[in-house]
Amino acid sequence: MLLNPQAIPYLCIVISNGMSKKNNPKNHSALKVQQGIEQPSSLNPALTGGLRQFKKDILSPEAFLKGVLSGDRSLLGRAITLVESGLPEEKEAARQLVNQCLPYSGKSIRIGITGVPGVGKSTFIESFGLQMISRGKRVAVLAIDPSSTRTKGSILGDKTRMEELSTHANAFIRPSASSGTLGGVARATRETIILCEAAGFDLIIIETVGVGQSETAVAQIVDFFLLLMLAGGGDELQGIKRGIMEMADLIVINKADGDNIQKAKLAKMEYENALHLFPALPNGWSPKVLTASAINKDGLDAVWKEIETFVKMMNQNGWFTKNRQQQSLSILRDSITQSLNSGFFDNKIIKQLLKEYEQQILEEKISPYEASQKLLERYFVEIEK
Ligand code: GDP
Repeated sequence: MLLNPQAIPYLCIVISNGMSKKNNPKNHSALKVQQGIEQPSSLNPALTGGLRQFKKDILSPEAFLKGVLSGDRSLLGRAITLVESGLPEEKEAARQLVNQCLPYSGKSIRIGITGVPGVGKSTFIESFGLQMISRGKRVAVLAIDPSSTRTKGSILGDKTRMEELSTHANAFIRPSASSGTLGGVARATRETIILCEAAGFDLIIIETVGVGQSETAVAQIVDFFLLLMLAGGGDELQGIKRGIMEMADLIVINKADGDNIQKAKLAKMEYENALHLFPALPNGWSPKVLTASAINKDGLDAVWKEIETFVKMMNQNGWFTKNRQQQSLSILRDSITQSLNSGFFDNKIIKQLLKEYEQQILEEKISPYEASQKLLERYFVEIEK
């Protein structure tokens, strides 16, 4: 019997499990060996390949750039790993790569999608993404999930999500960086956007769970913010804060199918009324409420039409560019604040002195203001050295 050549890598994995041929009950028939083939990873192969190969050989910055610009998903995955790495010896290469990609970036529409767990984000992104691909677009899906630091990736980490999209040649799915602070993850995601744009992806979807501060971070890096909601649960029930609703450029009531259609229509009216109470947006946009069924692929055309109308209007009134410029400037300031902050608090001498001053403050020997002045003065002397 001929063995499918694709079976060989899987066969190797079985053998490398350390089980001897004799006591491995699975190796008696070719059929069992081929079972390995039935378990493809639904994660983008570019990612897993990237992670595995990255340690093996370090590519030159030119090779990375060439690979990314040619749209090679495997090299794109490796480039993103480099950007996320944070290792001091890789920082310079990552910085160079992002800078070299910058002139080729900026041409996509960056869409943020948020909503509580279970609202249907991944189902929506799968259906919507595939529909966009059928319109000739290349779609990248990235995630910001600060909880992944604790749970090792609750978002996009589950391999069964977005099964069809993740294997499509015109899609690229990247789970959230699995470590770091929200600021760090957001920064890596922004740089990943630049790499994906340079690789020719024209629609970048950033997914986040709508329960924490991660939406604010996402709002800082996207052009359009879409909030998925459910009918029949109050905002409080859904854990959605008013602030998140205020950030939305579009609210979509998902799961508008079966018995739920009427409830979804009612919820649409309620949210429309709620939106009327919010102050007008400076860019002139009035956020709408739509209903959709991600599972039945209903209402997705209307969502895309809304995004297109938004982009057209923002391009006409100049807000599209203005918004991106403002985002860049606020990232500049945030980045400076973060660097100063970590530079100060990570400084060895300051760490020691801080403890001493804290004690003195507790003993009321010095005021916190005076202590902070002294510490800052000392810090600037230290970094001058
Ligand atoms: P996420 O946690 O927000 O990513 O939500 P999922 O996409 O994983 O969906 C959660 C559950 O809702 C799954 O069982 C989906 O099959 C289901 N679901 C998602 N979209 C729809 C929809 O449009 N209609 C219905 N009836 N169920 C949906």
